[in-house]
Amino acid sequence: MRIGIVGLGLIGGSLAWDLSCLGHQIWGVSQRPETCDLALKQGIAHRAGTDLALMNQVEVVFLCTPLGVMVKTALALVPHLQPGAVLTDVGSVKAPLVAAIAPHWPGFIGGHPMAGTAEQGLQAAQSQLFRDRPYVLTPQTITPAYALATMVELVEQLQANLHQCSPEHHDRAVAWISHLPVVVSASLISACGQEPDPQVLSLARALASSGFRDTSRVGGGNPELGVMMARFNREALLSALGEYQQELDRACKLIHREDWAALAAWLQRAHEDRPPFIKD
Ligand code: NAP
Repeated sequence: MRIGIVGLGLIGGSLAWDLSCLGHQIWGVSQRPETCDLALKQGIAHRAGTDLALMNQVEVVFLCTPLGVMVKTALALVPHLQPGAVLTDVGSVKAPLVAAIAPHWPGFIGGHPMAGTAEQGLQAAQSQLFRDRPYVLTPQTITPAYALATMVELVEQLQANLHQCSPEHHDRAVAWISHLPVVVSASLISACGQEPDPQVLSLARALASSGFRDTSRVGGGNPELGVMMARFNREALLSALGEYQQELDRACKLIHREDWAALAAWLQRAHEDRPPFIKD
């Protein structure tokens, strides 16, 4: 298949890497000419350039730009696509992108490969990044069967775990498991930093180990990505934060009241509820 990748960064570059290894022809478009040169040099793209017109002969296009320019790029790309081309995106939020892009291209289907690293750019691209990881497709009733079938086949070739749901369900689910944890974890880091006694603060820093590393990891990541998640998934994130705030209040009250039995029951529920979220 001749596959176009627009945005040769971590996700786009990783897709180009695996799809070219699978025998597909990869034509890439990126913002900076040096990124295109690197993709050609690495052999993960067969043709690459900065002009979206390069996408006029491909069968499938993966939009892999940052979220903030995804819709603008899709609208600029559409006039170059050949009839019947499948267009998909890899954005971490689905409802606003699907609503903005789908009316402009019949063969559009939203997607989200749920894999990544803390790094960015083509240099950070990896092979097999998507293997055994969730890949969500968000077809709608108007999505043509050929677009869904093509994407299902490619997701299977990447050996990712396919999930299908509505864009809205995707956004609510990722608010719980991805976007809420970023805010919670950043709040934890910020709250710890409020310790007024410098000696206690430096002792806490010295003693911090795996527990703090685990709970602070996603809050200490790329601020730009966190802002994008909040901007594009604002409603679902605010709803999840509201529920989270209530749980924190509940825990505070139990501790204030010294209601250890109720606190134990609350922690027991958390102990039992965690495994279905954690697969390894
Ligand atoms: P990234 O490493 O920064 O890659 C995006 C690349 O897009 C940049 O390297 C840039 O390349 C290129 N670009 C920027 N503006 C462009 C434009 N107007 N036209 C064409 N290319 C442009 O970011 P990423 O982590 O791969 O994320 C890309 C998308 O994947 C985002 O929408 C994100 O929501 C989604 N996603 C990310 C992850 C993750 O963990 N990172 C996971 C799943 C999905 P040059 O400037 O070098 O040309």
